[in-house]
Amino acid sequence: MFLVDLHTHTSYGSACGYMTPDELARRAKFIGLHGVCITDHNHIWDGEMIRRLSSDHEITVIGGAEVTTEYGDVLVFGLHRPVRDVSRIEDLKVMVDAEGGVMVAAHPFRGEFSFVNVPPAMGEIRQRPLFGFLDGLEVCNGLSGQKEREFAARVAAELGLADTGGSDAHAVLGIGRCFTVFEQPIGSEEDLIQSIKERRCRGALWNGALLRK
Ligand SMILES: [Zn+2]
Ligand SMILES: [Zn+2]
Repeated sequence: MFLVDLHTHTSYGSACGYMTPDELARRAKFIGLHGVCITDHNHIWDGEMIRRLSSDHEITVIGGAEVTTEYGDVLVFGLHRPVRDVSRIEDLKVMVDAEGGVMVAAHPFRGEFSFVNVPPAMGEIRQRPLFGFLDGLEVCNGLSGQKEREFAARVAAELGLADTGGSDAHAVLGIGRCFTVFEQPIGSEEDLIQSIKERRCRGALWNGALLRK
């Protein structure tokens, strides 16, 4: 099993990030993750910097992005063109498909499981346009509660989407709170994309113990 935090933010690409990419990679390695994806908001990574982080810290580092769309935040992997001017999910999907990448809805039910809200029904979920554009669903997000995670897992299974997890950490201590368990080793962006396309992964919540010796 190969453990990757699929959703993190750094001060390099996100104004709201409180850690540098080096601090992120160092901490991810320390707690025992095998890999980490940096998904700053609407920011596309320079491949050279990602390769440098991977080799300096001896951990798989992958540069993705969290793109703001009219249907919510979407994590994209495999996209290397700027997305600053892209906000329609349809346009994003065309770009991602052209490069053979994948799209995963970030925290798809955030805010829908508060005490005052009636939880969404599966029939209504199927009608949501967002789900027609995706390869995966972030079932486990560092800020999501148990009910939200259980519901997202059901939706991912019913819709046949990859089940992923990511901490959404903006600072060092949040890293790894949620992560994705892959069946295959992930050594590159291509490996990650293939495993998500084949749905060979699942989101998990970290219990705080070191993840490997
Ligand atoms: Zn987000
Ligand atoms: Zn995020």
